Amino acid sequence: MSVTFSALVAPIAFVNVCADGEERIPVRHETYPQARAALPAHTQTCGQEDCAVYGVYPHPVYPEGTPEEVNVSNANARYLLGLLGLDTEDLCGTLPGADLARLVLRALNRGFDDTGMGASAPLREAGRAQFIDCGRPAGYGRARLEELQQLALWASTNDKEITWG
Ligand SMILES: [Zn+2]
Repeated sequence: MSVTFSALVAPIAFVNVCADGEERIPVRHETYPQARAALPAHTQTCGQEDCAVYGVYPHPVYPEGTPEEVNVSNANARYLLGLLGLDTEDLCGTLPGADLARLVLRALNRGFDDTGMGASAPLREAGRAQFIDCGRPAGYGRARLEELQQLALWASTNDKEITWG
């Protein structure tokens, strides 16, 4: 489970990327339904077994210059949202880029304990999924906040919102 912070930017096209991440058929479709309609033709022509077995899905194409998303685990999202003074229960939300930039700057300037925490022993109960907490390295908070700052500053400059969930 993870949380992705990204700029709310409308895709300019959709492309069907092979299951292994390669873009073998670089046909750009105007809309998501058009890209979905082209999926059967994709699996017949690309020749990749993975596409037939695992499926192919349309990927959005964003305008050039759109910044990379920031993806973190749920636990780390809760930690970062807490540093920003935002709600840590729902792990989803939207803010104007300028507002998020202000919150990030305030958190970086205020400072916080960024010494990290060690991994805990795997937790497993019979018949249930195993939970593994990998901990958090020292400096993690500042590094992720700096990534969020780049994203928020771009959104602020381009009058966009940042969404996470
Ligand atoms: Zn394919």
